[in-house]
Amino acid sequence: MRKFLRTVLFPALAFFIIACSNESRKSSGNIQEQKVKEEKAEKKDCKDIHWTHHPGEEGPENWAHLCDGFKECAGQRQSPVDIQTEHAMATGTLQAPVLKYGSTPVYIVNNGHTVQFNVKGEHQVNLNGKEYKLLQFHFHAPSEHTIDGQHFPLEVHFVHKHSGNDFAVIGIMFKEGKENTLLASYLDKFPTEKGEFKSDDQIDLSSLLPENKSYYHYPGSLTTPPCSEVVSWYVLATPVEASKEQLEKLARILDNNFRPVMPLNGRKIQFYKE
Ligand SMILES: [Zn+2]
Repeated sequence: MRKFLRTVLFPALAFFIIACSNESRKSSGNIQEQKVKEEKAEKKDCKDIHWTHHPGEEGPENWAHLCDGFKECAGQRQSPVDIQTEHAMATGTLQAPVLKYGSTPVYIVNNGHTVQFNVKGEHQVNLNGKEYKLLQFHFHAPSEHTIDGQHFPLEVHFVHKHSGNDFAVIGIMFKEGKENTLLASYLDKFPTEKGEFKSDDQIDLSSLLPENKSYYHYPGSLTTPPCSEVVSWYVLATPVEASKEQLEKLARILDNNFRPVMPLNGRKIQFYKE
């Protein structure tokens, strides 16, 4: 028996104990490494963080982990969303948007994520009793919001601000059809890489909107990092038109700059019918 203990059981136990302690050292090492990684990520400044619309390490599925300031990208009230028209409620409490858009000189910027028109002067919209000021409008191809699961080839976002943390974005879909006059004048001037184009020409902002202003409305977020949940969304139900060539050219410049749709997480989409 003693021989059995000495030759078989003790060595086996010793091996087991050593293996266990190695294992626990290894795993506590992993936990420590993980902690250091997490601390680093938390402290990481978002200022110089590179992100992209394309799948991968810097893509939409990882935006929330790129730096502390992008955490909201994993929030519960994110945009864009799929608008299921069957479930959009016509509540009768919403009002027609009152647009007071004028004209603005041309100032086009390609910031590496979108092509944006910065606007000058006072351009207001009144949305359900609240006054918002237009800051800029920009493009996504294909559309970010989907309607009944379908993307449109292009979506323009008119970004407005009421105060510090209170934004409203009007989204307008484009479908293939007749040539769009604004794009006919300026599409050739769109910087295809980071850069800008300025001119004293005036553009009439209201010419970009469809006549019918029926809209879908829900609370959401910016669709790019930091994904702040500070946006009242108004997605117009009526698309405007651009020609096939115009849409193709924009698709080439914008290179799939859309964020995939996010879950509603219990949010309701309201419908205002004009
Ligand atoms: Zn946008």
